[in-house]
Amino acid sequence: MGENLVAVAYIGATILFILSLGGLSNPETSRRGNLYGIVGMTIAVLATVFGPRVTPAAYPWIVGALLFGAAIGLYAARKVQMTQMPELVAIMHSLVGLAACLVGFASYVDTSIAYEGAEKTIHEVEIYLGILIGAVTFSGSVIAFGKLSGKIGGKPLLLPARHWLNLAGLLVVILFLVKFLQAPDIQAGMLPLIVMTAIALLFGVHMVMAIGGADMPVVVSMLNSYSGWAAAATGFMLSNDLLIVTGALVGSSGAILSYIMCRAMNRKFLNVIAGGFGTGGGSSPAAAGAGPVGEVTAVSAVETAELLRGSKNVIIVPGYGMAVAQAQHTVFEITKLLREKGVNVRFGIHPVAGRMPGHMNVLLAEAKVPYDIVLEMDEINDDFPETDVSMVIGANDIVNPSAQEDPGSPIAGMPVLEVWKAKTSIVMKRSMASGYAGVDNPLFYKENNRMLFGDAKKMLDEVLAALKG
Ligand code: NDP
Repeated sequence: MGENLVAVAYIGATILFILSLGGLSNPETSRRGNLYGIVGMTIAVLATVFGPRVTPAAYPWIVGALLFGAAIGLYAARKVQMTQMPELVAIMHSLVGLAACLVGFASYVDTSIAYEGAEKTIHEVEIYLGILIGAVTFSGSVIAFGKLSGKIGGKPLLLPARHWLNLAGLLVVILFLVKFLQAPDIQAGMLPLIVMTAIALLFGVHMVMAIGGADMPVVVSMLNSYSGWAAAATGFMLSNDLLIVTGALVGSSGAILSYIMCRAMNRKFLNVIAGGFGTGGGSSPAAAGAGPVGEVTAVSAVETAELLRGSKNVIIVPGYGMAVAQAQHTVFEITKLLREKGVNVRFGIHPVAGRMPGHMNVLLAEAKVPYDIVLEMDEINDDFPETDVSMVIGANDIVNPSAQEDPGSPIAGMPVLEVWKAKTSIVMKRSMASGYAGVDNPLFYKENNRMLFGDAKKMLDEVLAALKG
């Protein structure tokens, strides 16, 4: 395949990637978006493999690597539970970072292309930056994986003078860039490169360790963005235009998503990156011993069915617990039944409900809940006062009124779904345990709130049976 044909194939793949991103922004077009992405990636891989820069002698290696990688990918995709998706995403990002590092070292020691003068400097800066971003992405993603999977505690690690430590690291990295560029040969350049890599790895660990559990969603999308920039840097090192464009697409869309999520959580991006959320400022109600107290009113599945049957307007708020219980299909059955009885049932989706962006939308789409009754938080929040029953299924932090009522709460200022403004709210969960952010929830004690204790799937099955009966 000649250089020109490869360029045309790359342009085609780029257009497909852009169409893919466009498609993924809406549940109705997301399947098509995925398809565009698959076709684009297939074209990209074929054009690269059969392009002029790969010799047939490399084919067995490429096929071997493809089979090996595909087998791991297939295994992971089949085995992973929906609730483990963020961990999978985090570990995948770490691989992009690792690849950028390895490509960086490989291009540095590769003497097949002789760079001279300014070109040599530019190439070496690309290598240095590529390895830097790759190493931060790699170690940061590994720690994010550990935190999301519960292998590492969610509490932020706050070293004394941590900002100074980061600043000192940055200065050393800049100093070693100068040393690296001045190195007379590859051997001499290796030391500054390795020192910088070690510092970047430590920085990645430190950066994510300092971030508290409740900010993890932003971190995941931020690492997504980093992995894009790492890929773009790899593209520069390899002079591969498609990789540069794709990396930039992932990098910028990840950055936009991080921004949207910060806004949804009323957090400043820089504060998230600076870390320590959940410990500074006010004391958590639990820690201060001033947690909400009072009586909670438990209801049975039959009483819940009664309340639902007697309603005109119902808003369902799903959360992480619905994903754990895999209750979405029963939720759909109940929705269908109530709608047949003339009840106006809608869904309110918080931007960080569950454990990854769009988590609830994916589950509801899988259960075939119609898209037009699934609304974003901002679209539905004003409707709670006119709602008879708000039904919270395995959600906690995203419906916590202390975000609005208690300025000392660790989640103060985070926008939440105002379920307590409905005539009656019903919270479905197994116990009084707190949610991901580890914050007590005064909603449970409100006068118009009812608790339906038990596994969401089991309880909803009982509600469905009662509704049918
Ligand atoms: P939460 O984690 O706040 O609460 C989920 C609740 O579900 C728990 O309190 C738990 O209570 C209940 N639950 C668990 N299993 C079951 C079950 N089988 N049946 C019934 N209930 C169950 O979830 P939310 O969705 O409200 O909030 C999401 C949180 O996760 C936010 O803090 C967000 O910042 C964070 N996060 C979000 C990410 C994202 O991108 N969306 C990524 C990472 C974190 P009990 O044990 O009593 O049953």
